[in-house]
Amino acid sequence: MKYYSTNHQAPEASLQEAVVKGLASDKGLYMPEVIKALPQSFYDHIENLSFQEIAYQVADAFFGEDVPAETLKQIVYDTLSFDVPAVKVKENIYSLELFHGPTLAFKDVGGRFMARLLGYFIKKEGQKQVNVLVATSGDTGSAVANGFLGVEGIHVYVLYPKGKVSEIQEKQFTTLGQNITALEVDGTFDDCQALVKNAFMDAELNAHMKLTSANSINVARFLPQAFYYFYAYAQLKKAGKADNLVVCVPSGNFGNITAGLFGKRMGLPVKRFMAANNRNDIFYQYLQTGEYNPRPSVATIANAMDVGDPSNFARVLALYENSHKAICSEVSGATYTDEQIRETVKATYQETGYLLDPHGACGYRALEEGLKEGETGVFLETAHPAKFLETVEGIIGNEVEIPAKLQAFMKGTKQSIEMSKDFESFKAYLLKE
Ligand SMILES: *Cc1c(COP(=O)(O)O)cnc(C)c1O
Repeated sequence: MKYYSTNHQAPEASLQEAVVKGLASDKGLYMPEVIKALPQSFYDHIENLSFQEIAYQVADAFFGEDVPAETLKQIVYDTLSFDVPAVKVKENIYSLELFHGPTLAFKDVGGRFMARLLGYFIKKEGQKQVNVLVATSGDTGSAVANGFLGVEGIHVYVLYPKGKVSEIQEKQFTTLGQNITALEVDGTFDDCQALVKNAFMDAELNAHMKLTSANSINVARFLPQAFYYFYAYAQLKKAGKADNLVVCVPSGNFGNITAGLFGKRMGLPVKRFMAANNRNDIFYQYLQTGEYNPRPSVATIANAMDVGDPSNFARVLALYENSHKAICSEVSGATYTDEQIRETVKATYQETGYLLDPHGACGYRALEEGLKEGETGVFLETAHPAKFLETVEGIIGNEVEIPAKLQAFMKGTKQSIEMSKDFESFKAYLLKE
């Protein structure tokens, strides 16, 4: 399969090139040249297949030309070592719980898949060690670090802003050891990102070591997110609830929902999608007006959705050939303030006993307000509420149980290397590695 850039100014890339480069040289995002429909027979019997079996069929449509079947199967099966259950919250509303992986957020799926695919390419080429640099404001670092943990031939450097991530988040990437190094930067997230960008542009450094990035626009992190939309459909079909299915996705950078839209293009019988925003509602405004006006993000309690210029908007436009009308025919939007998010977490907990996290709460509320007669809604519960402990406990006035997996991270000993935000010292450190 060839991958083209959404900016159309870069040469087409192979899967391997797209995965290793991440972003195209014209700064566009890679898109697969074709999105293959899956046969009707697959949908006819999908409810009898396991998550792994379903995901392999989807993976084969994207990656089957480039990765041998047995290898691809193993990558998919290893990646999805946890369940993604669709849990009924109330009549006609289901939660697709994407938080049963190692770091309790949906980014585990893409992070784990990408690590394994990159590991395969490196082995195949007999390349020397590849070094992954990733800047994080919290959740990405943990998903990427845990995804790559123990993968041969790859070393991961997580750069994070000192004192600006929660204790739980920090523990998830500073306690791992092995091939993961945490660099605690005396600066902001933007400083971390600048260090990473400068490293990619530095000729001397690139001659010394092979560098790559694991950010969320990478096709190997983006495409595997389609897997669980098919599994959600399978579960609802089994429950007899799949006829008029509406899928609602709490969205920030729009990678997650775009993978779902790819699924629909492959024939997945979803009636329509909803994108739930927090106050950073650039996409919502686009749907209303047809104008895309990026603006600086504002901080909210659904912080993983605080994005002012969603990268994957370029992929949405490419998928619908820039047609606002076509986009609006399949996707609607919603936007909520922190106050509304709090209200929703609290009321849902009181009325149903189900504890939402602040991101999932946007998705749930959009369904509550937007479902039409005869429709069934499923929202993506993108992270476990315990990852936002103080916020959620503050809202419900109760203690939240911390899952064993999170507790295990808390017990580990933090190991990090302190780093100034000055590029020369970062470079000197890497040159000694
Ligand atoms: C990353 C993230 C999101 C946003 O997903 P996008 O793919 O960027 O739209 C939503 N919720 C949580 C918990 C996240 O970590």
